[in-house]
Amino acid sequence: MKPTIEIIKGDITKINADAIVNAANSSLLGGGGVDGAIHRAGGKQILEQCMAIRNRQGKCKTGEAVFTSAGNLPAKYVIHTVGPIWNNDEEKTFKLLADCYNHSLKLAETLGVKTITFPNISTGVYRFPKELAGKIAIETVRNFKSEVIEKIIFVCFDDENEEIYKKLLEQKNK
Ligand code: ADP
Repeated sequence: MKPTIEIIKGDITKINADAIVNAANSSLLGGGGVDGAIHRAGGKQILEQCMAIRNRQGKCKTGEAVFTSAGNLPAKYVIHTVGPIWNNDEEKTFKLLADCYNHSLKLAETLGVKTITFPNISTGVYRFPKELAGKIAIETVRNFKSEVIEKIIFVCFDDENEEIYKKLLEQKNK
């Protein structure tokens, strides 16, 4: 089955989904942007679990995903994935961004997640061009078939991303 895809504008920390995805950095120790917002709102439980993961397996590689509980957030889990920093090796960078979505979705399936929420990974500090990142995000989740996940929600934080995502989703729906 293909999960339904929704686009909303808002703050991902407020979303009541089974899992929310964090655009983390490889240290897993928090940072700015959506990462900072998730750790601030979720409380220290998330950081403690991230530190435990680091002690077990070291840093999280770009394109990979790990999970923790969601602490004080309304979600059940936070899936932390590390987006690629935009650079000139376009093909490699495209693939790594698609990996973030695929690996997060696969991990979510193992957790029995029915609804999952993504931010616009890599489009903040990591400078991935928004339109391109949106295309990769929509295409990748579109191709993901699942017997477990029912709904995938993109939470856009700014008007520009909301417009891009809505336009892309409409185009693909035709
Ligand atoms: P990256 O390092 O992957 O670029 P950022 O956190 O800098 O991560 O940005 C990723 C995206 O998350 C950006 O589009 C940014 O506007 C968005 N963002 C920032 N805060 C939030 C939030 N609270 N909820 C949802 N999206 C957010």
